[in-house]
Amino acid sequence: MLLPVEIIKKKRAGEELSESEISQFISAYTNGQLPDYQMSALLMAIYFKGMTESETLVLTKCMLHSGVVVDLSKVEGFKVDKHSTGGVGDKTSLILGPIVAAVGLSVPMISGRGLGHTGGTLDKLESIPGFNTQLSLQEFADAVAKHKICFIGQTKEICPADKKIYALRDVTATIESLPLICASIMSKKLAEGIDGLVLDVKFGSGAFMKDTASAENLAKSLMSIARGYGKKVSALITNMNQPLGRFAGNSLEVEECVAIMKNETHLLADGTDAYSDTRELSLQLSAYMLWLGGSATTVEQAYILAEQALLSGKALTKFYELCDIHGGNLSGLPRPQNKIDILAKKSGFIGEMCTETIGYACVKMKAGRAKTTDIIEPTAGIEFLVKVGSHVEMNQPLFSIFGADFNLLKSVVTELESAVKIVDKPVEKTTLIHRVLL
Ligand code: URA
Repeated sequence: MLLPVEIIKKKRAGEELSESEISQFISAYTNGQLPDYQMSALLMAIYFKGMTESETLVLTKCMLHSGVVVDLSKVEGFKVDKHSTGGVGDKTSLILGPIVAAVGLSVPMISGRGLGHTGGTLDKLESIPGFNTQLSLQEFADAVAKHKICFIGQTKEICPADKKIYALRDVTATIESLPLICASIMSKKLAEGIDGLVLDVKFGSGAFMKDTASAENLAKSLMSIARGYGKKVSALITNMNQPLGRFAGNSLEVEECVAIMKNETHLLADGTDAYSDTRELSLQLSAYMLWLGGSATTVEQAYILAEQALLSGKALTKFYELCDIHGGNLSGLPRPQNKIDILAKKSGFIGEMCTETIGYACVKMKAGRAKTTDIIEPTAGIEFLVKVGSHVEMNQPLFSIFGADFNLLKSVVTELESAVKIVDKPVEKTTLIHRVLL
């Protein structure tokens, strides 16, 4: 048997690790017998040297079986989930979960917290006072059976390895690695007891995969693992070259989701609806979930079912039910105390947004964590007042930033000004969905 340091050295040299070496490392770390610094070193070695397909499969299996697989055999019908590889303002789970459950499929969701510059579903939901994402396995299974929906995080019982490794990757610059992303996502999703999975694989300046080719590569690896475990799966390759929707930041994103489920609109200065991309992506992802689950024979018909659930208010009712299941008091959603506007330095067209910089500005305002022990400030975040392609005049507000600590807000103004490139010539608007892999 190799010592942990020998396993780290082996990966650092680019060699393939055996099943027993991976298994030994993961179980020792999960059980608290191996310190964070050795796990961090192995993660960094994997980040630089990668893993073979069979190592990735073994890592996924070890992380999955670090805990239990939820038994949802008593829940009738198709159980389906969606997972995103991470973005800024990416809040679709809060809308599509209620839509799909309102149409009639079960949505058992194990989600994550913020990761790097991207936001996390659990942090968003926990900005609702009282919302408890740490339910027991039994409570999770009961809620799915009774209400067709429940959102929990990794726990000591479910995916404990991912719970620890995810938090460590968040603060050690070891996120953007295909095998680590695959094992993290698929161990959670395979533990849920689902029949089908829709993947939202993001590319662009705010994604972990910066171009479409690497996003497609990641999608194919995730799909192949899902199929290996007998799951139905589709992947949408979607654009993260600008933040999604009106807001990034936890309570602000909840506010946006509720507004969308109330069928509200919010017009920007250039006449576009600030909610349109969040709404459209939520409907598209819902449509693929419903289609995988057999609620409709075509994706187009499934889209109509999803739209009806949204327009009729059934999704909103399901979201209120979800808040009740988790003890969340939506009417107590906190409001930010401070606001600063970030102004355009010149007139022109929004040519590019560095969405990763925008995401890290959110983290610096405490909408995310810089250290594993950091406490989130639920109202911190950004409102996006322009989109790529919008025309702006000099001194027109580009963003409003919000939060409890005025000095923290002031500290990110310069980097947010630099995150937007204003150009002289008109720019094409971005396409939301690049490709669908079936
Ligand atoms: N989402 C996850 O759950 N894990 C990752 O590594 C990336 C996105």
